[in-house]
Amino acid sequence: MVQEIDMSGRESEREGVYVIHRHAATRLHYDLRLEMDGVLKSWALPKEPPRSRGVRRLAIEVADHDLEYAGFEGEIPEGEYGAGRVEIWDRGSHRLLEREEKKIVTVIHGERLRGRYGLVMFRSERGKRLWLFFKEKASLDIP
Ligand code: MN
Repeated sequence: MVQEIDMSGRESEREGVYVIHRHAATRLHYDLRLEMDGVLKSWALPKEPPRSRGVRRLAIEVADHDLEYAGFEGEIPEGEYGAGRVEIWDRGSHRLLEREEKKIVTVIHGERLRGRYGLVMFRSERGKRLWLFFKEKASLDIP
């Protein structure tokens, strides 16, 4: 399914929330969260998010979070799912350029990540959706 984005419409002009949480759970990872459809679509990255081109990072799709969670920092208590320290590693906004079932392109305006980023789903097995997250080539038509 391809979701059409009307380039003259509101969706394409609107900046959505962007945040990456650094999550020191049993295994340290980074949770990329992008506002879409009124929620934070989320992916867990086992390695540090890519700041330069040519680096592709595994991004495991995880549960949507409420928008309010974008500002969360603190300790998830022992015994709860994801127990460990959560801190904001980067934040800002993003602007969707393309959105298909297996491909997302967005311009990220953060402090650490800046520019055009892609997410491509390369595998889906037993309910787990695996994506690659990477910084895209510069494009003259993207401000
Ligand atoms: Mn996490």
